[in-house]
Amino acid sequence: MEIDYSHIKVIGFDADDTLWVNETYFRDAELEFAKLLSAFETANKIDQELFKMEMKNLPVYGYGIKGFVLSMVEMAIELSNNTVSNKTISKILDIGKDMINKDVELLEGVEDVLQQLSKKYRLIVATKGDLLDQERKLEKSGLLDYFHHIEVLSDKKEANYSKLLNHLDIKPSEFLMIGNSLKSDILPLINIKAHAIHVPFHTTWLHEQVEVNHDKSKQYQTIKSLLELPKLLN
Ligand SMILES: [Mg+2]
Repeated sequence: MEIDYSHIKVIGFDADDTLWVNETYFRDAELEFAKLLSAFETANKIDQELFKMEMKNLPVYGYGIKGFVLSMVEMAIELSNNTVSNKTISKILDIGKDMINKDVELLEGVEDVLQQLSKKYRLIVATKGDLLDQERKLEKSGLLDYFHHIEVLSDKKEANYSKLLNHLDIKPSEFLMIGNSLKSDILPLINIKAHAIHVPFHTTWLHEQVEVNHDKSKQYQTIKSLLELPKLLN
């Protein structure tokens, strides 16, 4: 596939599941949550209902662990018909705190690749989620020095990206976004005439899953690991 990256000046990186592991912790938390409530429902049903609850609450709480915890608490109250014990609620809060306190586990080759690319490009992070949590992870990651700018967006739609590029005075044609989510990191960029490269992570949150039509799929490349990136850009 021929995509010309010679005009790229700025590269944006998604953070969760692009620079470091994230979704895996949510999957683990969901399993733990289902175990806690196993007296009330099957694990499968709890999983489905929790997802619905998260979607209902998304406009209120936004993305991130804190909203996820509140959705688990609400779900527990609902599933138990208001009988859930304080002890169980307290265990749910612990699930959230454990998630927040996890070490940052960088994905393969991240530091190497950032080091190489930072010599030639301006690098930025464009992530969505909870501001405090994302700042904490960036701090723990040891990667802060590679980035000229960090943007925590409330959502990653076309308008959010256009506003960001405008603000940073970057032309869409000079911008390349790298990320694991087709819905959040790739398609909006293609739609505003910027570039994007998809690096899938082994698990994707249901909310981030999309079908991509053939025309669109020809407008971006997919790589297995960030390690392939420097070669692709040269
Ligand atoms: Mg991501």
